[in-house]
Amino acid sequence: MKERGILTVISGFSGAGKGTLVKKLISEYDNYSLSISMTTRAPRPGEENGVSYFFIDRESFERNIENGLMLEHAEYQGNYYGTPKEYVEQQLASGRDVILEIEYLGAFQVKKMMPEALLLFVTPPSAEELLRRLRGRNTETEEQIRGRMRRAIEEAVIVDRYEYILLNDDLDTCVRETHEIIQNAKYSVSRNAAFIDQIRKELHELKD
Ligand code: 5GP
Repeated sequence: MKERGILTVISGFSGAGKGTLVKKLISEYDNYSLSISMTTRAPRPGEENGVSYFFIDRESFERNIENGLMLEHAEYQGNYYGTPKEYVEQQLASGRDVILEIEYLGAFQVKKMMPEALLLFVTPPSAEELLRRLRGRNTETEEQIRGRMRRAIEEAVIVDRYEYILLNDDLDTCVRETHEIIQNAKYSVSRNAAFIDQIRKELHELKD
């Protein structure tokens, strides 16, 4: 049987550069599959359906929740966002390491259902840098940016519930560190419980 892949949740302050980090991680290493989320928010310029997100209406989203098709979902700034369950399950079962780039409410739902999932939180080096990056995107109004800064204050409170913090100052370094953290999880004692049980049995059998 193929060893199950690792499920990693990547969250972070909006404007921390999660999207760029995840894209680079996936293009540099070939063991990762990125889950494409569903959302009810409108596409931003340049975003394509089925690439950035699956863009759907609220009614369809709510139907998907009712039908148990979502691994997790949350409302963020007035829109639904969620992870389709089937793709994640398929990829993990085939041994691929799956990345979810989602916010914290969804992250905690995933952790509750799949305690072996890794929770990583991405941060820029300072609050000033965060604001600079948000403004630099030129995709949002000043009011939306203020909304994201307020949200960042809430997020700073819940960082403690994550397992790893990634400082995204130099992108290449951050990509390499993210990869190392995820791959190291393969050697954790909890992921290898079956192997440890097996070797205990073998030791007992061979002791005399
Ligand atoms: P944006 O609108 O900027 O693309 O995303 C807004 C927030 O929603 C980001 O923090 C992003 O990580 C989060 N998000 C994207 N997809 C999902 C998802 O499937 N589930 C949850 N819970 N959050 C998501």
